[in-house]
Amino acid sequence: MDFTLSEEQRALQDTVRVFARRELEADAIRRAHSEEYPREVAKKMAGAGLLGITIPEADGGQGGTLMDAVLAIEQVALVCPRSADLVQEGNFGAIRVLARFATHDQKKRFLAPLLSGDEIIAVAMTEPDAGSATTDLVTTATADGAGFRVSGTKVFPNPHADQYLVYVRYGPGVNGIGSVMIRRGAPGFAIGKNSKFMSGAHWAPLYFDNVYVPPEDVLLGQGGFKKQIAGFNAERIGNAARSLAFGRYCYNAARDYALTRKQFGRPLCEFHGLQWKFADMKIKLDAAQLLLYRAAANADRGFPAADETTIAKLMCNQVGFDVANEALQVMGGLGYTQDTLVEYCVRRTRGWMIAGGSIEMMKNRLAEIIFERRFSQRPPRAKVMGDG
Ligand SMILES: Cc1cc2nc3c(=O)[nH]c(=O)nc-3n(C[C@H](O)[C@H](O)[C@H](O)COP(=O)(O)OP(=O)(O)OC[C@H]3O[C@@H](n4cnc5c(N)ncnc54)[C@H](O)[C@@H]3O)c2cc1C
Repeated sequence: MDFTLSEEQRALQDTVRVFARRELEADAIRRAHSEEYPREVAKKMAGAGLLGITIPEADGGQGGTLMDAVLAIEQVALVCPRSADLVQEGNFGAIRVLARFATHDQKKRFLAPLLSGDEIIAVAMTEPDAGSATTDLVTTATADGAGFRVSGTKVFPNPHADQYLVYVRYGPGVNGIGSVMIRRGAPGFAIGKNSKFMSGAHWAPLYFDNVYVPPEDVLLGQGGFKKQIAGFNAERIGNAARSLAFGRYCYNAARDYALTRKQFGRPLCEFHGLQWKFADMKIKLDAAQLLLYRAAANADRGFPAADETTIAKLMCNQVGFDVANEALQVMGGLGYTQDTLVEYCVRRTRGWMIAGGSIEMMKNRLAEIIFERRFSQRPPRAKVMGDG
């Protein structure tokens, strides 16, 4: 067992750090509070080879590892937390689903503009009555000639995307779920009024009213969702990396502050009550980081480690928020202002305890792994009359 990064991995960290400081640092606070999606950053990321790190070169990616993508997210987040979103979205989630399941033609039309930083994608999965119970989704795809007609409502996605990966129901049960690609502006597709998350990011309901999806825009047909579930383990690593990196950003800011801010004639770092906060923060960050790296390194070796990725996501989501919150406390009134990015990171990390599989759903999953059996979350079926 080796706990050190390889020479190549350290070189990657250095390169990304230099890029982030040169290109992203100056505008980090403005970017975090802007309501605009930072499209200009996507172009810079593409130029620096930070989009599609894990995607094969044949598909326009960098042919790197999950661990490389994790290291890139960390280095960008430590300089400009908002920009880390683009590294995450450019390497995990929808983009990897496309790389894995899209046809050659779909890769050209949907994946290529994402990798070049020209377009943004969002996932439309959650519905008003299907949140944690994802498989309750009722957005339907009804056959119409060779294509499909999609009708339904989605909630919470980014309303500024150019293309949407929409989860749909072709038929009953989990096997009936798959996904299609729908572009902004498609006839019958309307984006509702913008709302704001606590993070400041926008979301809006998406309305699909008999939207025609040609056969060449079907990503996953019947049974597709089940096929895709295997990939969810790797996707959790990206979410975990960003949560934890935001926590570390705040820890660094609070540490610098504790070394320079004086009260009662001495720097904050000399107060015992704050020293223990730092000791606890460091222990939590290091523990979560080891779990994250274990999950990423083993996933790169090809082990389907559901327990490791579930634990890593759970721990990084919790620690990212806890440390950001504690760092804010250390920074007193300043930490609570928008003059630093600590309060921003508190708001952002809070959301990831809900998104992408909530803390509670991760614990449910872990319980199933521990006991090696499935625990249905659904109410027991009512007994049929005459069952005795
Ligand atoms: C920041 C953010 C970004 C998001 N982005 C997107 C996006 O891009 N696309 C998209 O489709 N969706 C997105 N979502 C939606 C997200 O996937 C859902 O919020 C999430 O799946 C939870 O669903 P819900 O909000 O309906 O909560 P519910 O499922 O109603 O859950 C409410 C609470 O009950 C708990 N709970 C539910 N079931 C159980 C159970 N069986 N055992 C224990 N506890 C349970 C949950 O953990 C939660 O605490 C986003 C959400 C957030 C916060």
